[in-house]
Formats: sequence, structure tokens, C-alpha cells
Amino acid sequence: MANKPEGMQLIDKKGLRMDGRKPDQLRPLKIEAGVLKQADGSCYLEWGGNKVYAACYGPRECHPRHDQDPTKARVRVYYNMAPFSVSDRKRPGPDRRSKEISKISSEALEQVVRVGLYPKNAIDIFVEIIEAEAGTRCAGLTAAAVALADAGIPMTGMVASVAAGKVDDTVCLDLSREEDNFGQTDFPIAIVPQTNEIVLLQQDGHFTHDELDEALEMAMKAAHEIHDIQRAALLKRYEAAAHDDDEEEDE
Ligand code: ADP
Repeated sequence: MANKPEGMQLIDKKGLRMDGRKPDQLRPLKIEAGVLKQADGSCYLEWGGNKVYAACYGPRECHPRHDQDPTKARVRVYYNMAPFSVSDRKRPGPDRRSKEISKISSEALEQVVRVGLYPKNAIDIFVEIIEAEAGTRCAGLTAAAVALADAGIPMTGMVASVAAGKVDDTVCLDLSREEDNFGQTDFPIAIVPQTNEIVLLQQDGHFTHDELDEALEMAMKAAHEIHDIQRAALLKRYEAAAHDDDEEEDE
């Protein structure tokens, strides 16, 4: 979050945002499951200006061995931003930010994966950000959860993630690039829609108590909308797979 250039208006007189959205409106979101042949489960997601692939492998024996947990599986997310995903070329390879996002995403997903079923195993999810606008940690986590489900990994619920925030003293949902850069608060959150359990909550900037309540309510509601889109993507994938099986039987 940087200082806003003088005269820049993120919310207009009608209360609309620079891209015409209402404060509680998501950017357009499209999700497709089962898009990569080589992975056990996968997802492609477009969300505003973000384009994300997630590929899931496992459960499989955890390597290196010293990472193995004899009581449960390790869930490991590897978040990576492509060098061409942002306007100034990003230096390739891991950095502090990608390590942090990988860690918080792993911890969020570990809450829903039934890790106790697979001692000494690893479940790895590679998240590749192909194009970044803002909110890539939420987009990556939302895609990773679909890839896990697509891989048939037993889970107690899904994970849907979105950021709320504060822009020009207005609580807003799903911040755009300008809002993320020049807004006052960024508040990424991930929930399990089946239980409303919160598995990720971060905050950069300030909220009053009432604003925090408003942001939380907005994000919770949006997470359910996101979950509907995740579910529809998985249903479509399995309907297509079932259809293929039927055709094979007929031959
Ligand atoms: P998130 O993507 O979850 O919002 P940040 O708030 O850290 O995470 O980043 C906000 C945005 O800043 C990203 O979505 C991306 O568009 C941009 N960004 C992040 N890292 C870089 C980088 N190394 N170079 C250029 N832009 C970046």
C-alpha cells in the first residue's frame, strides 16, 4: 500500500469504483477443473486480471524423508509468480513474498485435507501465477483447493478465498491493482464455506471495529459466491468424465 497520488479518486461521487464495480462486487471469476493431463488434479482460474494454474500431486511418499510426519500427510503449496506476470519483469525464482504466500496457503489447506489418512506422505500443490493484477494469494488458494478436490483428495470442506479492504474510507471487496496499491487496507481471508471456519486472515492497514465487521461480512458472503463457482467447475469436470466413461462402455 503506497501513498495515493494527489487528485486520484478510487471511489466516484456515485460510490462506484474505478472499474465501475459497487463496493461489494467481485471482479469476474471463471474456474475450470481438470485442465492439466500430467497432474493428479488441476485448475485454471481467471479472476479480473489474474490468470492462475494450480496442479496437485499426491498423496505420495514425502521427500526429503526428514520432512515426513509419521502421523499425517504434509500439505505443501509452492506459489510462484511468472517473470512475465507483472508489468516490470519479476525476478524469477522464490523470494520472501512467495515463501510467505506458500506457507500461509499450505497452512490454510492443511485445515481441510484429511491429513491423518496419509502418514509419511506429501500432497503438493504448485500454484503458478501467469498474470497478476492483485489478490493473487486469494486466487491461488481458491485454485489450489479446486485442484485438491479434482485430485480426489479427501477433504472436510472446500477453501474459498477473497480480499476485502478499505479504499477512500469505503470498505470494498476484491481489490483491483490501483486499490491494492493506493488503498488504505488490504484484508485477505479464506473460509471453509461448509462451516464458515476461517483458515486465513491477514491485514495490512487499519480498520475501525465497524469497518472490520463490514469487511468480514462482505468477504464471508463473497466466499460463498466463489464456492458456488468452484463447485460448478468440479461438477462440470465430473459430468464430462462420467460421459466419457459411458461412451467407452458403449463401444
Ligand atoms: P496479492 O497478489 O495477494 O494481492 P500482494 O499484495 O503482495 O499480494 O501483491 C499485490 C500485487 O502486486 C500483485 O498481485 C502483483 O500484481 C504485484 N506484485 C507483487 N510482487 C511483484 C513484483 N515482484 N513485481 C511486480 N509486481 C508485483
